[in-house]
Amino acid sequence: MAPLVEHVSPSPLRRQLTNEDGCIQTPPRAPSPVHNFGTLAVHAGAHPDPSTGAVIAPLSLSTTFAQTSVGKPVGQYEYSRSSNPNRDNFEEAIAALEHARFALAFSSGSATTATILQSLASGSHVISVSDVYGGTHRYFTKVALAHGVKVTFSPSIELDVESMIRPETKLIWIESPSNPTLSLVDIRNVATVAHQHGILVVVDNTFLSPYVQNPLDHGADIVVHSVTKYINGHSDVVMGVAAFNSDELKERLTFLQNAIGAVPSPFDCWLAHRGLKTLHLRAREASINATAVAKALEASPNVIAVNYPGLDKSPYRPIALKQHRNGMGGGMLSFRVKGGHEAAEKFCQHTKIFVLAESLGGVESLCEVPSAMTHAGIPRDQRESIGVFDDLVRLSCGVEDSADLVKDVLQAIERSVVGMKITNGVEGVNGTT
Ligand SMILES: *Cc1c(COP(=O)(O)O)cnc(C)c1O
Repeated sequence: MAPLVEHVSPSPLRRQLTNEDGCIQTPPRAPSPVHNFGTLAVHAGAHPDPSTGAVIAPLSLSTTFAQTSVGKPVGQYEYSRSSNPNRDNFEEAIAALEHARFALAFSSGSATTATILQSLASGSHVISVSDVYGGTHRYFTKVALAHGVKVTFSPSIELDVESMIRPETKLIWIESPSNPTLSLVDIRNVATVAHQHGILVVVDNTFLSPYVQNPLDHGADIVVHSVTKYINGHSDVVMGVAAFNSDELKERLTFLQNAIGAVPSPFDCWLAHRGLKTLHLRAREASINATAVAKALEASPNVIAVNYPGLDKSPYRPIALKQHRNGMGGGMLSFRVKGGHEAAEKFCQHTKIFVLAESLGGVESLCEVPSAMTHAGIPRDQRESIGVFDDLVRLSCGVEDSADLVKDVLQAIERSVVGMKITNGVEGVNGTT
């Protein structure tokens, strides 16, 4: 089968990431894909089995591979922690979808974060956006510090980045959109400043998936995903991946992937690869559904505010138009409901399609109350300073019918807010049950 991506011939000279002035040299870019996203999603890394012609790659469970003589394996594999056929196929597909030259898979999104942070020398400094994923915040504050890496947080990184940079700053960590307030960061702006100081930029792209946003195209050096979410998309695999262009990062992170050993199983790689073949269909549908739900919420008198970068009124709309495919908003949104925390909790109990659960990015719609669930570990004042109020509800829109999702959200709001008014001794103005 002809390759879907034209590979550039490898340079005999290993490109160094930084020059003598400490500035980042742009690593060689990924070859421009010869096919569009949907075609790559279905075919990249999906090679028919050469021995049987099976169109779907078989699951290769073997942990070890025979050698014909000492140190001479039959094929390219020796031991499956180091590499195995199913992981290779998945990594090849992700590299194609993220416009990267390389991708490395890990046993979870968290293990991906940990491995990247482990690549920094003791004494390094990291700048991160404030409203990162809870587990990332936990790793930064409770684990990275123990091996001598200090992380400082900024609620407005585009404004603060220059002043926060220290001589020992090695990495800037961005989540765009952020969780759960869906604020966006202009990746190019931050990367330009970072690269003048020889600092690498990592973007956690979990909330959008490579279908909606490709951070490497906007200047990021590494893009990471919790594959658990949109890429696998069926809420049945925990896994992570990092993609990048530089040979130096490839060498360093491949060494750590093997040395730390936080690797996914062949079966998880096989499942996640199957999942990503429909990523474009699912991400498109989820984005259409989230837009419909966001517009309905925006028009509701019982909603205080809606956070969704797909809405024209969103302060982040210009960045979405610049960074996201067709300005799509993605499948995630959050909103503040009238009636405080109690109304937010009631809302999640009254939905009939949205399931009350943590996580996101699956085919089924989910709802949750961040202040009591995903973000409960963050002290209230810190939480509220980043917009995570007690009355905030986060929705992950799946691929169900959009009219049904809108109806479900509106009836749940009605029931939770009216319920609150009765509890407070005030007649429900809407008069519905
Ligand atoms: C879920 C998530 C992670 C962590 O991924 P796991 O696969 O659960 O370890 C990291 N970042 C974001 C934005 C996430 O949503």
